Amino acid sequence: MNLDTVLQKHARTTPNKLALGWESGEYTYQELNEKIQNLATHFLLNGSKAGDRIALIVDNCPEFVISYYACMRVGAISVPINPNFTSREFSVIINDSTPKIIVTNEIVKEILLNINLECDPKYFIVGSQNFNNPIPNDSMQTSMNLIEIEEGTILYTSGTTGTPKGAILTHQNLYHNAKTFAEAFNMKEDEKTLIVAPLFHTAAQSNCLNSIMYSGGYSYLLPRWKSSAKTLSAMQEQKTTFFFGPPTMYTYMLSDPNIKEYNLKLRFAYTGGAPLSSSLFNKWRETMGFEIVEGYGLTECSPVVSINPPNGRKKLGSVGIPINDVSVKIVNELFEEVGIDEPGELLVKGPNVMQGYYKRLEDTQIAFIDGWFKTGDIAKRDTDGYLYIVDRKKDMIIRSGFNVYPKEVEDVLCQHPAVLEAAVIGFSDNEKGELVKAVVLLKDDCIENITSELEEFCKKRLATYKVPQKFEIVKELPKTNLGKIIKAKLRELYV
Ligand code: ATP
Repeated sequence: MNLDTVLQKHARTTPNKLALGWESGEYTYQELNEKIQNLATHFLLNGSKAGDRIALIVDNCPEFVISYYACMRVGAISVPINPNFTSREFSVIINDSTPKIIVTNEIVKEILLNINLECDPKYFIVGSQNFNNPIPNDSMQTSMNLIEIEEGTILYTSGTTGTPKGAILTHQNLYHNAKTFAEAFNMKEDEKTLIVAPLFHTAAQSNCLNSIMYSGGYSYLLPRWKSSAKTLSAMQEQKTTFFFGPPTMYTYMLSDPNIKEYNLKLRFAYTGGAPLSSSLFNKWRETMGFEIVEGYGLTECSPVVSINPPNGRKKLGSVGIPINDVSVKIVNELFEEVGIDEPGELLVKGPNVMQGYYKRLEDTQIAFIDGWFKTGDIAKRDTDGYLYIVDRKKDMIIRSGFNVYPKEVEDVLCQHPAVLEAAVIGFSDNEKGELVKAVVLLKDDCIENITSELEEFCKKRLATYKVPQKFEIVKELPKTNLGKIIKAKLRELYV
């Protein structure tokens, strides 16, 4: 069973139900299925075999969806890639994955033609005849579904902590995460999502596209995040019932003065991928009258590991409890389990965990211990089994032997009324080992004495060793396409 088989089932049982919409069109399940079948045939005619990689380098568009499931149909492995990458970033991933076919637009194709690639891919340009021509050969269709391989997609980690590595996710991984997530939110055929987070990233792919498709629901695509007004109006027009966005999208939507004017039909607002500050959680509840559901995951886990119960008790600051069939364990440096409320590294085991990193045996071996995947995140668990992400292991600052978790300091800074976003990093110091620096984006420019005010604010709420020694007020924070702050870039710029 893979997700394409589920899609084909919907095309048979609810052929006229709307599956996909975008600014200039929409497809029913039957139409979407025909488009997929058509493209799958073109893939085969262009020499694609089971196990070949096919790169998808586009913003959110119907062609992404068609290509993603067409890969599953022919047994090819999709490799979604950020279309905004630079030549260097493209060459790293393309030379690693050596795709047979690249689905992209003319702009990216031009960039790729100027790179010294170690493979010779065929280009399928979105909007071209490969996506529109009728199926050329009937005999090929019949043999198509017989091809079964385990690997479904290779997703390169977004590289916020180093060189991108390709996490191999199997059909079972993808199917499990979509099904479990859809069940957790009790998604049915009438579920409608708005996909504005990028589909080349695991979160929107699984939490929106695959889960909604699993449920037989409807996905409306926006090419990318443009503004809160655009997103909120699309949500209103499309009568969106389920929305996923990283915390930054909620920050921007809440700073829109007109947010309350929209007539929204949201059942659930889900977030994950980065810490949700308590001030953001509270502000959303006050403004919208219901709570954001926070979950936790990572590319290597397809991605979801835990969710706050959508219809149950959500605990502030917690990323909830592990999803069905997924086990977690929190361990110390010796890989011994720690006690309740004690911080340690979070390990995960279950049907959502990747097979390994593509062509990287050593990295794969390092990533696992006794069959448990090491997330690299420090977490705690309370008596009710709720998980709390303390921070990334790599981002922890050690000041005079005391651990400072940037997330805690960021959370405090975000409670200050003048602060829109904050990021905390360490900088080296001969005496203390490391010291703490806060990089802050304000809601409005030019507030007098803001840094001393922020320092006082932190002093009242944090132990002295956690209070930043340096503050930097900036106009912009470097972010990934999902809206995550890139700490490595911050260190480069501000340390
Ligand atoms: P790279 O692995 O290249 O650094 P990345 O970490 O951004 O990139 P993702 O798989 O997108 O790759 O992100 C997963 C990470 O995001 C988790 O390991 C965790 O640190 C963080 N994260 C996810 N959800 C949450 C959450 N709810 N709260 C805090 N952190 C979260």
